[in-house]
Amino acid sequence: MSALAAVATRSTATGPRLEVDLSAVAANTRRLASRTVAQVMAVVKADGFGHGAADVARTALAHGATSLGVTSIDEALALRSEGVGAPVLSWLNPLGAAYDAALAARVELAVPSREHLDAVVRAQQAKPRRRSARVHLHLDVGMSRDGAEPAAWPALCRAARRAERAGLVRVVGVMGHLGCADDPADVCNVLGRRRFARGVETARAAGLRPAQRHLAATAATLLDVRSHHTTVRLGAGLVGIDPTRTTPLRPALTLTAPVVTVRRVRAGSGVGYSHTWTAPAATNLALLPLGYADGVPRAAAGRAEVLLRGRRRPVVGRISMDQLVVDLGEDHVDPGDVAVVFGPGDAGEPTVAEWAAWAGTIEHEVVTGIGSRVRRATSPAPAPSPSPRLRSLP
Ligand SMILES: *Cc1c(COP(=O)(O)O)cnc(C)c1O
Repeated sequence: MSALAAVATRSTATGPRLEVDLSAVAANTRRLASRTVAQVMAVVKADGFGHGAADVARTALAHGATSLGVTSIDEALALRSEGVGAPVLSWLNPLGAAYDAALAARVELAVPSREHLDAVVRAQQAKPRRRSARVHLHLDVGMSRDGAEPAAWPALCRAARRAERAGLVRVVGVMGHLGCADDPADVCNVLGRRRFARGVETARAAGLRPAQRHLAATAATLLDVRSHHTTVRLGAGLVGIDPTRTTPLRPALTLTAPVVTVRRVRAGSGVGYSHTWTAPAATNLALLPLGYADGVPRAAAGRAEVLLRGRRRPVVGRISMDQLVVDLGEDHVDPGDVAVVFGPGDAGEPTVAEWAAWAGTIEHEVVTGIGSRVRRATSPAPAPSPSPRLRSLP
């Protein structure tokens, strides 16, 4: 029985279901790691892009990643409480965040301002620890979003060096993030790379020796080796999303739902809220117990399809909070038959990329939006293997 068929069978009994295929995460990690000589930081923010943060973290670490990255301290602490002990960096926290808990759990912290540096220093001073706080100075290289403004960077570097001399912090990294890496022709990449290189020079001139210098995420890892430095931060690519459309990565999610009821309607019958679709002829309709509260994008209505009884069939009418309707034409399905909403595409089912296009969004938003009432099932992770680079050594 194929993995998909196995999912389908179980789903019949259990309602909507999200299957996470960790062997896809393993394969993607190996493939991406083979594209760089840099270290791989696996980015498992937003619950591992909706795939399960600890599962993705463990899988990536077993297949080539050497550290982890998340947004908030809470996400880092959740990994620790799941028993994940690898180095983890948290890069976006307000001044009042739980720096003390982060340091106690050996979480590394990105520092985007003097005020943030002071907050980390205070947490370090409050409770003398054997190990100094490990920080990555975070430079804005052109997005006007997170990271220190270039004008504030030299003073931040000097202050960090003073804190280092006082034994309170160790600057282990400098980070930046590119805003246009999916379009390598965009001049914004040249400026971003240049600002980052200058930022590293400024840090060194201040006496800092950041061993990790990281700028590239998935897109830049695939398209621009000049951005790799010592470490690349990979999120989307690990779970099979390729923002560059250049590399065959494997989607890791399959979303299914069983048919609740099937009905025959007459020509002219309106379907769903506001009757945005009216049956042009008599037809059979199937109801799925899955809607926008479960992460099925409402904006995809009018274009979306699901796989049911071996064929793509259109979703008709509005997608409701909890349910959607599928047009079967003259075909018949039975209540309990399982529809595949999206998957890797092997059996002809729609992919997350298609749903994203139907909804006018990106795959990242679809995979991170699956609702909490969808039951999750995670396939066992494949056995650890050394990174492709190591394996290819004589
Ligand atoms: C989300 C994120 C990443 C990962 O980016 P992908 O394109 O998903 O690989 C890397 N760095 C930062 C700062 C991020 O916020």
